[in-house]
Amino acid sequence: MSYSIAIDGPAGAGKSTIAKKVSKQLNYIYVDTGAMYRAMALYLIHSQVDPQDTEAIAGACQYADISIEYRDGEQVVLLNGENVNAHLRTEEVGNMASVVSAVPEVRTKLVELQQALAKKADVVMDGRDIGTVVLPGADVKVYLTASSRTRAQRRFLELQQKGVEADLDQIEKDIIERDYRDMNREHSPLRQAEDAVLVDSSDMTIDEVVERIIGLWREGCGCR
Ligand code: C5P
Repeated sequence: MSYSIAIDGPAGAGKSTIAKKVSKQLNYIYVDTGAMYRAMALYLIHSQVDPQDTEAIAGACQYADISIEYRDGEQVVLLNGENVNAHLRTEEVGNMASVVSAVPEVRTKLVELQQALAKKADVVMDGRDIGTVVLPGADVKVYLTASSRTRAQRRFLELQQKGVEADLDQIEKDIIERDYRDMNREHSPLRQAEDAVLVDSSDMTIDEVVERIIGLWREGCGCR
């Protein structure tokens, strides 16, 4: 039987940074489910599908073959056979991902892929619906959040470091909009699972959050 740690939370809460570190410490595989929704968004942007047209999205998503490989411990997302990692982290793709992820056909397809990965290996999986829908039986469930300003500041710094010009207020506005969409959609909205532990990282360092999760793992399934 494989073990799983589910980390859900809003955009920019630090899920991927934390999940990567936890997975390294435990020697689990890190599964970034947001990257799968982003790959789908990229496909739909390239196919010039109208983001408002749910039926068109539901139809077109069937032609996107998304799979995951691990190269040197890094998750590589393949879209119709091509490594698209370098194209996933833009604000445009993130916002489109939040729109297309509300379409049930998109979710069904990607949730199947995520569940298959968790069956095969011990995973730390992050996203929006991991503890509630994808892995309801996860050994550890964390709902990781931080204030919208803190999250915007983190994104802003990330972009600055990459030399990308950015506007802090605009980033915060996008984050609030994205949270609203993710929390209020009909299918698999972002919410804290009843048995998830709430971790607010606004005033915590990365290592403190990692330690907290490893602590939960030890209490929960580390001794099994
Ligand atoms: O986490 P990330 O910002 O990469 O996710 C991009 C978008 O994909 C989110 O805003 C959300 O709408 C969607 N998503 C989702 N379910 C997940 C992971 C991501 O709906 N499990």
